[in-house]
Amino acid sequence: MGKKQFKAESKRLLEMMIHSIYTHKEIFLRELISNASDAIDKLYFKSLTDDKVGLSKEDFAIWIKADKDSRTLKITDNGIGMTEEELENNLGTIANSGSFKFKNENKLEEDNQIIGQFGVGFYSAFMVAKKVTVVSKAYGSDKAYQWESEGVNGYTITEAEKQSAGTEITLELLEDTDDENYTEFLDQYRLKSLVRKYSDYIRFPVKMECTHSRPKEQSEEDKEAKKPLEYEEYIEVETLNSMVPLWKKNKSELKEEDYKHFYTEKFYDYNEPLKYAHISNEMPAYNALLYIPSKAPFDFYSKEYEKGLQLYSNGVLIMDKCADLLPDYYSFVKGLVDSEDLSLNISREMLQHDRQLKVIAKSIEKTISNELKKMLKNEREKYEEFWKAFGLQLKYGIYSDYGMNKEKLQDLLMFTSSNEHKLVTLDEYVTGMREEQKYIYYATGESAARIEQLPQTELVKDNGFEILYLTDNIDEFAIKTLRQYKDKEFKSVSADDLGLENAEKKEEIKAKEEENSGLLETLAKALDGKVSKVILSQRLKSHPVCITSEGEISLEMEKVLNSMPTDQKIQAQRVLEINPEHEIFGKLQSLDKSGDSDKLGKYAKLLYDQALLIEGMDIEDPVEFSNLICELM
Ligand code: ADP
Repeated sequence: MGKKQFKAESKRLLEMMIHSIYTHKEIFLRELISNASDAIDKLYFKSLTDDKVGLSKEDFAIWIKADKDSRTLKITDNGIGMTEEELENNLGTIANSGSFKFKNENKLEEDNQIIGQFGVGFYSAFMVAKKVTVVSKAYGSDKAYQWESEGVNGYTITEAEKQSAGTEITLELLEDTDDENYTEFLDQYRLKSLVRKYSDYIRFPVKMECTHSRPKEQSEEDKEAKKPLEYEEYIEVETLNSMVPLWKKNKSELKEEDYKHFYTEKFYDYNEPLKYAHISNEMPAYNALLYIPSKAPFDFYSKEYEKGLQLYSNGVLIMDKCADLLPDYYSFVKGLVDSEDLSLNISREMLQHDRQLKVIAKSIEKTISNELKKMLKNEREKYEEFWKAFGLQLKYGIYSDYGMNKEKLQDLLMFTSSNEHKLVTLDEYVTGMREEQKYIYYATGESAARIEQLPQTELVKDNGFEILYLTDNIDEFAIKTLRQYKDKEFKSVSADDLGLENAEKKEEIKAKEEENSGLLETLAKALDGKVSKVILSQRLKSHPVCITSEGEISLEMEKVLNSMPTDQKIQAQRVLEINPEHEIFGKLQSLDKSGDSDKLGKYAKLLYDQALLIEGMDIEDPVEFSNLICELM
């Protein structure tokens, strides 16, 4: 049969393996054993509901056999096996494998990191072998096939002989060089220690025929003559791994390293987790390993991202991403849950209604909440890192489901504060409130620096009150959903009633507005369709004008809502506020007196555009704006 070519991506990966100078080539064994274990998992799972499999738990095993004469190492499993097509697809097109994404193909450093962090599956065999032969028979098929390759030049697939379902992989090891010793992978002690190091928690026995020696029985004569003992060799089958999954081990046996390694390995994350928790719960009974990644996955805030935890029933994987175990607002959590109380042959649909699963999900949620609160309290820096990666998700959690979960989440929120631009929690804000302060003040904008310059913040800051800077689109929606925190209402610095105005000043402004009602009307008329009214401001100190809004929809919300892909456009009711203390107001008054309503109209437009610009909004007609400036200059 002719030679087939590898797919381009596979070829690159293969080349990377062959030329690898990676110092831990030994991980190839771990990779092949994991694959074998996955394959057995699949057949074992079948055997639970299908008598035809004819194997019971004790029958499943992975075998390692080293032969020094032929320099070969065999790894055999009696798992699900592969059909001819699967051999072709799985081993000819490895870049499909979820564990591998090409990053920077040409950089060795990077390569080494990739190999080290993820393990790259089957092809890692080519780090130590010049030729790899796979003989496999799929469960339920009566034919077996052999896949064979000596590297990048391609592979062949031919029919083969094999009794029962499963896969046998034979590696013909590379010759030793000055730098590399491949022969050691034929040494039984080396193999034993590698299995213990990397594959100890594999759930099926990894067996090997080990050679030992013992003293031969001596005759009485020889004993008397004190002849030296003679030794004989004998062979004994040993199980090399302890088979206890990591999460079922005693916490005291495990090191931070173990947890971290397990994470990067299992969840294909290149970065170490920010936090982990190992839980053994009694009621309901389950073990869990939960991880918070240190960075949001690249697709986290997209529709493609799938949340969920791996679900095991007493050590047997029944679902890879069980979404029902995590609420949306904790969708960033990775990990697994193992419960003895779940039935094995439960279907996906049934699982959704499983009462036990719901109880477990509740308990998991509580655990996550507690862990986050603990982190906030004891590891502030770490929590802020977490917040930067996943805070957005929690804010969505407040807003969604009509605010149903706001009580659970509100203590986890953080916002940038006007005080030194630090992140503060709502609790910290409220604790720091002045006695005379009625509200929790907030301001919205693109960035803290931008908000800082908003004229609307002047009055609040002048009173010495802290302001929360809301810079994400979702923020104001979340705040509106909360409405209040610890009996303190939220108040936008753009609101018409800030609770700061003293009665005297209010009266004064009111009188001024009446005095200038004609002027204000003329200005409003010039801005017809743009603003609902023009008023004299109580909040401005140094700035001449600002834009605020009345009603439920703020300018920031208008921006957000209008950036959504719907046809309906929404407009906040805009109010132009003019600072009566500013000299520009005197100018307006004198124009009004001289009856130059044309010029007054032009001033109105300019001031309005100016206010929009400060607010970080687009002006409608930049050309007109520019012309007006020149004209009035
Ligand atoms: P990954 O395990 O990350 O998917 P691999 O390169 O290790 O990637 O393997 C590719 C695929 O080949 C596996 O997903 C599996 O379908 C198949 N495979 C590998 N080894 C075996 C085996 N021993 N038995 C059955 N299928 C296997």
